[in-house]
Amino acid sequence: MARRRQIYEGKAKVLYEGPEPGTLIQYFKDDATAFNNQKHAVITGKGVLNNRISEFIMLRLGEAGIPTHFVKRLNMREQLIREVEIIPIEVVVRNWSACSFAKRFKREEGERLPRSIVEYYYKSDELGDPLITEEHITAFGWATPQELDDMFNLALRINDYLSGLFMGGRMRLVDFKIEFGRLYSAEDVRVVLADEISPDSCRLWDIDTGEIMDKDRFRKDMGGLREAYQEVARRLGILQEGTSADITSLDDVKAEEKKADEAKAEGTKADGTKSDDKKTD
Ligand code: C5P
Repeated sequence: MARRRQIYEGKAKVLYEGPEPGTLIQYFKDDATAFNNQKHAVITGKGVLNNRISEFIMLRLGEAGIPTHFVKRLNMREQLIREVEIIPIEVVVRNWSACSFAKRFKREEGERLPRSIVEYYYKSDELGDPLITEEHITAFGWATPQELDDMFNLALRINDYLSGLFMGGRMRLVDFKIEFGRLYSAEDVRVVLADEISPDSCRLWDIDTGEIMDKDRFRKDMGGLREAYQEVARRLGILQEGTSADITSLDDVKAEEKKADEAKAEGTKADGTKSDDKKTD
């Protein structure tokens, strides 16, 4: 199989040139990093799970009228996306106080916030992603006032939708981080949701037990990260028991990947459909 041209490599994902102009392939790695790259590990199967969870969320958000960069999932680790110009801002929405936020304002961990709070961080590894205000964003030209307005409104709509979605699986959406991009077309430029939404970028707590089901398990050395992500996928109804998509062990992940590689070589997908078939399970 011909190697595709790599466009960008991040901490948890790689972007490759897509099959058509204006498209990219987003590949989910198993790498987990925290504290601005100071902590790193490879957690087998994480990329596969995040690909599925992010696909599911992007599709549901799309149905709810949120514009996203997502086109379709291609295989175990890859999805086809629209090429966008990433706006260099991490938008964080918080519903409950946790970790750095709880420390910063001396609030109880797990305190319900009076209302959802939207924060902005400047995307810069060198600077450690500093907290910024709308003034910084418009003064430095990272986004226009209209784009900022769009991001703020979309972030709150995404928060409303996702809070309900996770609630359906008895999970509390404590906070999450999203990124946006500019999608250029012949007619206009639109702000769309980009990157991923997965337990890597959300805090999710079991509503009944308070169990942590997200990347904090890695940050806090708790172990059981893959099992937690798998449980998130199961509760969202993504992984049905006994199907080929049920990733329960390292062997299953390897077997699935081998099947996907073989299928790719034959021009079919792992589930037996032709590679150009639309599949939105
Ligand atoms: O660390 P902090 O409390 O600011 O994180 C808020 C939310 O944003 C958490 O859900 C965290 O997982 C996510 N986040 C992220 N990538 C970052 C920083 C935070 O996904 N670089």
